[in-house]
Amino acid sequence: MYIDGAWRPAAGAETIAVLDPGTEQEIGRVPAGTADDIDAAVRAARAALPGWAATAPAERGARLAALRDVLVARKGEIAATVTAELGAPPAFAQKVHAALPITVAGSYAELAATHAFEEQLGNSRVHHEPVGVVGAITPWNYPLHQIVAKVAPALAAGCTVVLKPAENTPLVARLFAAAVHEAGLPAGVFNLVTGLGTVAGQALVEHPGVDMVSFTGSTAVGRAIGAAAGAAVKRVALELGGKSANVILPGADLARAVNVGVANVMSNSGQTCNAWTRMLVHTAQYDEAVELARAAADKYADRIGPVVSAEQRARVWSYIDKGIAEGARLVTGGTEASRTPGYYVRPTVFADVTEEMTIAQEEIFGPVLVLMRYTDEADALRIANSTAYGLSGAVWAADEAAAVAFARGMETGQVDINGGRFNPLAPFGGYKQSGVGRELGPHGLSEYLQTKSLQL
Ligand code: NAD
Repeated sequence: MYIDGAWRPAAGAETIAVLDPGTEQEIGRVPAGTADDIDAAVRAARAALPGWAATAPAERGARLAALRDVLVARKGEIAATVTAELGAPPAFAQKVHAALPITVAGSYAELAATHAFEEQLGNSRVHHEPVGVVGAITPWNYPLHQIVAKVAPALAAGCTVVLKPAENTPLVARLFAAAVHEAGLPAGVFNLVTGLGTVAGQALVEHPGVDMVSFTGSTAVGRAIGAAAGAAVKRVALELGGKSANVILPGADLARAVNVGVANVMSNSGQTCNAWTRMLVHTAQYDEAVELARAAADKYADRIGPVVSAEQRARVWSYIDKGIAEGARLVTGGTEASRTPGYYVRPTVFADVTEEMTIAQEEIFGPVLVLMRYTDEADALRIANSTAYGLSGAVWAADEAAAVAFARGMETGQVDINGGRFNPLAPFGGYKQSGVGRELGPHGLSEYLQTKSLQL
């Protein structure tokens, strides 16, 4: 465990095996942390809090810039680690898994130095102060990005952190701890405890020395964490699942919208919380869109990596079986293994999917796209808003104004208009059951701040 600025043995003897999902071979083991490890880490974070909170924001920014530089120097190692433990194809691991955390760390180096931590409101001076000790719990699908999207703003705000990363991808988390060490952050400001969610994760959530829990993962676990944090009156941020709609309005460039939409779903083998997993097409263009989607998906057959684990593949396959059983039309893909060894899932497209079907409502978290038909814009909006989730989405139209007007009606935290690019400064987070709070950019920084008003 990395606690109080040093690597130290875990309190218990249990370990967790890490597998390469492309070979099914064990590639490493990490200690399975217990409540004792969490306690030691939280104590270290509490002890470091006053000093780090009092450090000038520009100096905190300088430390984050040093951390970004170490991540840049270790970019190849980061990408190779994510390829090994998540199965991400090497080019994607470089371009996204390694590059995005560098961008986000850099953005918080700058925000720490430039953010207004003080404001004047009438006769009040309002100080934006750190929330305190943050317990961060992250999933495996973008393993380093999700760590940096919590740790960088927390440190920029003056908080100290205990991180419990996902059990499937702890190796890149260890690499991150080594980078923090190399960047010279003061001891105790960042601490890492690897372990099981139900043991180390739960101990972190319940620890009275933790002021805020920031969680990314499934809605089921998020709900339990939110309840525990609520009972203890702790601040909580939840980034949960999604079932985002890609709405193609008549007049849009259909081929482009379908191709970009399929690429979006197949990326990271479909293990992306903000993936546009429901494609909504006008009934007049529906058959053409299904054909385009089939052709586009088939091009990914040899290109996508495996999903993270045997359990995840079984889960994705069970959704595919359910789709067929509930009457959806399997256009391509299915539950035959495309390759062995490795937890590969064939790029899968379903047509004739209707709102009440399980595959139209639940997050599959695999390379599975469903195509739904609508009759007019009102119908499209009703379908787009018909799930419990609201994380992301896309709208394609002949002109931007029409797409924007439609997007304003969507119950979701982000919408990409006619292929608008991902923006690492834009607030990211969910409406409805996709979560509570926002990550990235200045809004992500605010999550880790609380206000104190002095009336002068
Ligand atoms: P998960 O909820 O099982 O695990 C996420 C993390 O929580 C892991 O570190 C795990 O060890 C920990 N955990 C599990 N049980 C816990 C408990 N009882 N107490 C404390 N911690 C616990 O999810 P997963 O399988 O790792 O990830 C897939 C899910 O996460 C998908 O549903 C996906 O949509 C969602 N997700 C959302 C976002 C987002 O930004 N909104 C990002 C990535 C993933």
